[in-house]
Amino acid sequence: MTTAADVAADPLLSRLAAIVGERHVLREAGDMAAYLAEPRDLFHGHARCVVRPGSTAEVAAILKLCAETDTPVVPQGGNTGLVGGQIPGQGSRKDEVVLSLKRMDKVRETDPASMTMTVEAGLTLLAVQEAAEKAGALFPLSLAAEGSCTIGGNLSTNAGGTAVLAYGNARDLVTGLEVVLADGRVLSNLSKLKKDNTGYDLKHLFMGSEGTLGIITAAVVKLYPRPREMHTAFIGLNSPHEALKLLNLAQSLAGADVKTFELMSRFCLDIVVTHGEGTRDPLAGKHNWYVLLELGSQIEGGEAALMNVLEQGMEQGLIEDAVVAASLDQRADFWKLRELLSELQKFEGGSIKHDVSVPVAKVPQFLDEAGPAVEAFMPGARLVPFGHLGDGNIHYNVTQPVGMDKQAYLDRWYEMNAVVHGIVTRLNGSISAEHGIGTLKRDLLPTVKDPVALEVMRTLKQALDPKGILNPGKVL
Ligand code: ZN
Repeated sequence: MTTAADVAADPLLSRLAAIVGERHVLREAGDMAAYLAEPRDLFHGHARCVVRPGSTAEVAAILKLCAETDTPVVPQGGNTGLVGGQIPGQGSRKDEVVLSLKRMDKVRETDPASMTMTVEAGLTLLAVQEAAEKAGALFPLSLAAEGSCTIGGNLSTNAGGTAVLAYGNARDLVTGLEVVLADGRVLSNLSKLKKDNTGYDLKHLFMGSEGTLGIITAAVVKLYPRPREMHTAFIGLNSPHEALKLLNLAQSLAGADVKTFELMSRFCLDIVVTHGEGTRDPLAGKHNWYVLLELGSQIEGGEAALMNVLEQGMEQGLIEDAVVAASLDQRADFWKLRELLSELQKFEGGSIKHDVSVPVAKVPQFLDEAGPAVEAFMPGARLVPFGHLGDGNIHYNVTQPVGMDKQAYLDRWYEMNAVVHGIVTRLNGSISAEHGIGTLKRDLLPTVKDPVALEVMRTLKQALDPKGILNPGKVL
């Protein structure tokens, strides 16, 4: 809510209230708090106000007003981003307006025959998944924050997650977008077409641009058949070299039915079973590395396919031990071991994070080289490597040495980054596989991005947002 005194102090507030209604312009510190800091509180900022439009027309009117008054705008979905892209007050501008899309939460249309669904940006990912399920189909994007992140945020950051191996990144799951541009024009292309070669594919400009080129208000997403059977195994093995060979074996035997191939080290599992309520190690002995493997099939016989992969993996000496989920509950227990990991790391102290990717074949080499390099940089630092081996994407987190002061450890963040990113760059990898650039990696980007690519990015930014009002200080 805004008060008369607020409005007198800042005429923009009454103009925003005229667009969205007074109760959707938040000005009080208590009302705004949830929009100004992300859950880990690594990033927090301040804003002139939070505005909560309920329609595309309202978003367009807000941007027209902001363009006219040179007011910077920070778009925000579920506020779960990990690189600070959704948090205001990170750049030089002190007068930003947070534009929350959470009121735009409708499924506009479900079209099972075209296998598409038209959804608004503020729907949570979980709500999109549930709407697809109601239509008898699957929307495969899946990640730990799915209960609170929004599809608009997923698309503007090109989110990844655990289903990329089988279905691709967020940008691969879209046929059309509706975007409000910096000057308030609406680029409406809610197309369901699989094939459309009428010039530049503009939607891909906005997906992954983190709200710096336009604000995604709706999307046509692709639906897929729901696998009839899912079969899940938790596997112990010696090293990432065996894990990579097992991935190749599984794909040669089961093809597109390989839906999940998640890797984690022994220390990752230790963290989860030590701090995670109701968790336990499903295997009798200890192993250096673990894989969560899942096959999903449309036809019966999935279990035999999984057993075949495991048997051949054993015969080839790739697998030390494995257990197959005998029930849905057990499957959920296996998934918990992977999904709880991100939030449970905090119990071991400070964590310096890297969201990196290398060519899939080079993941073992990356892990072989990064471990000793980190140990040389900071003896006693504890490696927490896990992630999506099938995508070449490892969350290479490093937990502080036991007994070290947490802040003193976190103060070495960028030095540690330089050690890990140096290896990633040498292996032709990326320093941001699925979390984006935001604020966290903005200063790193020019050190790794091709200079011509950066020039083209700046040219596009200038063309689409000449006043620089869209999410300033992020990405570029
Ligand atoms: Zn991930």
